[in-house]
Amino acid sequence: MSGRVVIVGAGHAGGAAAAFLRQYGHEGPIALIGDEPHLPYQRPPLSKAWLKGEAGEDDLQLRPPSFYEDNHIAVTRGARAIAIDRQTRQVDLNDGVSQSYDHLILAMGARARPLPIPGAHLPGVLYLRTAADAEALKGMLGPGKRVVVIGGGYVGLEVAASARAIGAEVWVVEREARLLARVAGEALSGFFHRYHGERGVRFVLGASAAAIDGEDKVEAAVLDHGERLPCDIVLIGVGALPNQELAMDAGLVCNDGVVVDNEARTSDPNIFAIGDLTRRPLPLYDRSFRLESVPSALEQAKQAAAAITGHKPPAPEVPWFWSDQYDLKLQIAGLPFDVDTKVVRGDPDSARFAVFHMKGDLIQAVEAVNAPAEFMGGRLLIGQRRPVDIEKLADPAVSMKEVGA
Ligand code: FAD
Repeated sequence: MSGRVVIVGAGHAGGAAAAFLRQYGHEGPIALIGDEPHLPYQRPPLSKAWLKGEAGEDDLQLRPPSFYEDNHIAVTRGARAIAIDRQTRQVDLNDGVSQSYDHLILAMGARARPLPIPGAHLPGVLYLRTAADAEALKGMLGPGKRVVVIGGGYVGLEVAASARAIGAEVWVVEREARLLARVAGEALSGFFHRYHGERGVRFVLGASAAAIDGEDKVEAAVLDHGERLPCDIVLIGVGALPNQELAMDAGLVCNDGVVVDNEARTSDPNIFAIGDLTRRPLPLYDRSFRLESVPSALEQAKQAAAAITGHKPPAPEVPWFWSDQYDLKLQIAGLPFDVDTKVVRGDPDSARFAVFHMKGDLIQAVEAVNAPAEFMGGRLLIGQRRPVDIEKLADPAVSMKEVGA
């Protein structure tokens, strides 16, 4: 309870870990080190409410500045950790300072995956990961602006919806034959495709961006089959890469993410890793995975804080995620591994439905659009590993409480 904890990365996971440590009674010094100029903030609104101007700066903050002072959490902003010495238990920062630790928590998150095509350096080619990225995008968006979004994943589709709300013209280019191919089932992909299409978003599926044309700024995105989409902005949203180099250099086991156990512990017992940075176990699915979501970051922040303060590990949570687009609230619980059947409950045309991904009579995952009862009920059943009656599940007249077999 009295050791010195250093947290590298002052994002959602790092900020939450500092708070959980105090909540669990940690009395020793806590140092939170981040390379951005901000206190920990939330990224989800950057592509949603904040981008549309419906949320302000203060709404982004994870906690008010007074929280860190009141809880004696020493925050260093704008400094980057560049090396870890596991023998002497020290972290070196790029400002020349070294910080010693008893326990180290790595929370460096992920960065936008670059798209190395000709013209990607031109002004007007943007990524969206940080508040600075979001400022740049917001500054360029406006009514009539032409935006090409490369990548039909959640970030890309949220930007498309927000840009339409502002009155911009939007194209989405996706390499796969359907949207959200990596993360969602066909029914949900098809639904979002139609919903965006009805709101004026144009799609080019099964095509990649081959180059970006322009003299001294973006003029067009050129696709691999030769089509040219004239535009003012290209937003690249093709996934994220874990910021694991610091951990790799220190000899920690990494495999597309820093490998951790159920207590968020790395291969060094004094070093924990949490959030988008990690490849974490998923006890419910008997495998490990790299999740990029706020609930997972919070769960692991809790795990690390509990382990450091000698509390018993928190009960495993069912992974979940959300996305807001237009008037749609998508909530997803679980992960669609080893699925043999899918059950649609409700009518996608009514924009209120859920898709259940089944392994036999067990729900592996639920994708719920404007259907909070299906999300909550599904999440509970996934966590309980409780078999369900598929006929009842498919019938929206039967309540979620009654679908258990
Ligand atoms: P981050 O929040 O990325 O924080 C990591 C921090 O560490 C960063 O500030 C980084 O600059 C810093 N850092 C990196 N290296 C160093 C270093 N060497 N030294 C010091 N600091 C360093 N999730 C959801 O669940 N729902 C959503 O709707 C949703 N929407 C999203 C929308 C957008 C636009 C984005 C970008 C993400 C969204 N996410 C969403 C994902 C969610 O934001 C992440 O899962 C979450 O931020 C992970 O927290 P983290 O602390 O691991 O990483």
